[in-house]
Parts: sequence; structure tokens; C-alpha cells
Amino acid sequence: MIIQRVVLNSRPGKNGVPVAENFRLEQSTIADTVQAGQVRVKTLYLSVDPYMRCRMNEDTGSDYLRPWQLSEVADGGGIGVVEESKYENLAEGDFVTSFTWPWQTTAILDGSLLHKLVPQLVNGRLSYFLGAAGITGLTALLGIREKGHVAAGANQTMVVSGAAGACGSLAGQIGRLEGCSRVVGIAGTDEKCSILVQEMGFDAAINYKKGDVAKQLSELCPSGVDVYFDNVGGDISDTVISQMNQNSHIILCGQISQYNKDVPYPPPLPPDIEKIQKERNITRERFLVLNYMDKQEASVLQLCQWIQEGKLKVRETVVEGLANIGAAFQSMMNGGNIGKQIVSVSK
Ligand code: NAP
Repeated sequence: MIIQRVVLNSRPGKNGVPVAENFRLEQSTIADTVQAGQVRVKTLYLSVDPYMRCRMNEDTGSDYLRPWQLSEVADGGGIGVVEESKYENLAEGDFVTSFTWPWQTTAILDGSLLHKLVPQLVNGRLSYFLGAAGITGLTALLGIREKGHVAAGANQTMVVSGAAGACGSLAGQIGRLEGCSRVVGIAGTDEKCSILVQEMGFDAAINYKKGDVAKQLSELCPSGVDVYFDNVGGDISDTVISQMNQNSHIILCGQISQYNKDVPYPPPLPPDIEKIQKERNITRERFLVLNYMDKQEASVLQLCQWIQEGKLKVRETVVEGLANIGAAFQSMMNGGNIGKQIVSVSK
């Protein structure tokens, strides 16, 4: 059977900025027959995520991520529909997902590696299982629960960087749902800031590309910062950490501003900021959502419930067509998305 697929065309280099041309669309073939234990799936949605930048290097720098190989099909979070099944627990028409979905229009996959989805849990919005009701939502929720020390009634102020991105836009809302009394976002455009405040219930948002971030932050967080959900690292994080309270907590979710640099993860703080962190006893422990998969099922149900109740507002940027996945990745790495960036493959 003839299919379309996207392979890694070239590596950006450890310190290079990834571009769409690092990926290549090509025609390929898959077997015409499905073997016992396998299913043939039609791809519906693919996720592009910042961690994929590490997979573009020869060495990902972490033991849980495999590098993509040149001229081989890329993979990541995906959703599809079963077209033919020789795996007992899946039938034609079932919707399924995997963290290692190949970037191709149709694939034959091992049925035991797929997770069956219940579309009703997300009001039929299947793509949410890649975002708010998937690994992104889990990262926001479990990051806050495991590392945030949020306590209802404790009058805590939370700051979120990368706040209009997939994780950040959920993290601020979940921070509020879990009990923070004030939530301030930091994002890269006025439009993003306005969505955070008007749609997603943030108390305020700062455009870090305009004006004096430190000054705005101190005005907007008059009692200091108790919880910092850090998606970006770098200068923004240094500014936030400088305004954190004694015994406060950083949720070290990601450091996207450092991903095109050859630095260890997590990148060390500059000496003056590290001094503040130590003197104020600010926790900054590494957080990896994959370490908490025992909490996945209950947490996904919690996220779905909030979505159904309208308590968690979800934004997606959907790009149509497998051919555009490289451009979608490039745009996401440059902050072009609002909320979760999804590639729709059905057309
Ligand atoms: P995302 O949707 O792309 O959001 C990240 C946002 O960060 C972008 O929208 C962008 O918007 C902003 N940004 C990009 N480059 C920046 C820079 N140099 N300086 C400041 N802001 C910048 O990504 P995501 O999926 O939400 O992921 C967010 C972070 O979570 C990433 O670091 C990712 O690696 C991490 N993550 C961690 C785990 C875990 O288990 N720890 C799991 C999933 C994701 P603006 O610049 O326009 O604001």
C-alpha cells in the first residue's frame, strides 16, 4: 500500500535553529496485509512538541529520548482510527493513541502498544487527547501537584512562563483550580496576553518582549511569587526567581529558551540567581511527567472532567496536512502557536 511519510532530512546542529527543511515528505509503502497482533491505522492527528528538538540531535542528551535517524520516519504523540485489526482488544473504527506514532498517513502498528480512546470524555474533541487530556495536561497537573506545593486558602501567587503555550495555558488555570489566589502569565505577544486574561482566567499577563518585565512583575505580584511554573528558563526565569518568596517552589517543567543551545539539562542558574535560590530556600527539582505514569489514569479523568465542566479552557493551533508538519514544528519552536500545536492529517 502506498503511503506518505515524513522523515528527518537533516539535523539543525546542536546550537542551530530548526527549520521546516529539516524534514522531508516522501512516498513510501507498507505491507498490504496485517499480521496477528497488528492493526492498520489511519493517522488523524499528530503532535509537535518542544522536546522533539532534542530528538533532532545525534545525541538527545537524555536517557529516555531516542534520536531520530536521518532519512527515517519521525514519530511522536499521535491519534488515529483503526481500519483493520488482528489484535483482539481493538476493532475497526476504534480511536487509538500512542507516544510513538509514526509521522505517516497510514501505518501498521503493534496493537498492544496502542491505547484506546473514549471520545465522549472530551466531548468528541479527539485531538484534546494529545493536549489538555493527554501528556500536556498531565504535565501541567502533575507538575503542580508533585512540585508546586499549592494549598487552597494559602493565598499563593503563581507565575507561569511560556504561559500561552500548550502546558502554560493549562498550568495557570490548574494553579487556580488547585487553590492559588493569584495567577500571572508571561507570554510573547499582546494577543496571547489578552487571551490569557480574557479567556483563561489569568489575573494578569506580561508581554516579555515589551517593557520592563521585572517592574511589571513586581507591580502585578505585590506579595511576591510563591509558585513558579517554569517552561522557558533563561532571562525570564532569572527575573521571576529574583522575586520569589522564602520557601517558595519552582516547577521545573521545561527550559525552551535553551533548547537550541548545547547546555546540560537543567541548565545551571547564573551564580547571583543561584545564590537567591539557595538563600530563600526555593525548591527547583527536576520534573518529568513520565515518572508519574501511575497517576495517569486518574489524572486524565480529572482533566476530562474539568474540560466537560468548562473549568479548563482549551486552545489549539491546528495545521492541516502532513506536508506541513515541519513548518508547524518550526513555528511552534518560535512561539507561533497559541495553546497546543496539532497537525491534522486526515485531509
Ligand atoms: P509550547 O506550546 O511551544 O509553549 C512554549 C511557549 O514558550 C511558546 O508558545 C512560546 O511562546 C514560548 N517560548 C518559546 N521560545 C521562547 C523563548 N526563547 N523565551 C521565552 N519564551 C519562549 O510548548 P509546550 O508543549 O507547552 O512545552 C512547554 C515546556 O514544557 C517545554 O519546555 C517542554 O519541553 C516542557 N515539557 C516538559 C515536560 C516534562 O515532563 N517536564 C512534558 C512536556 C513538556 P511566546 O514566546 O510567544 O510566549
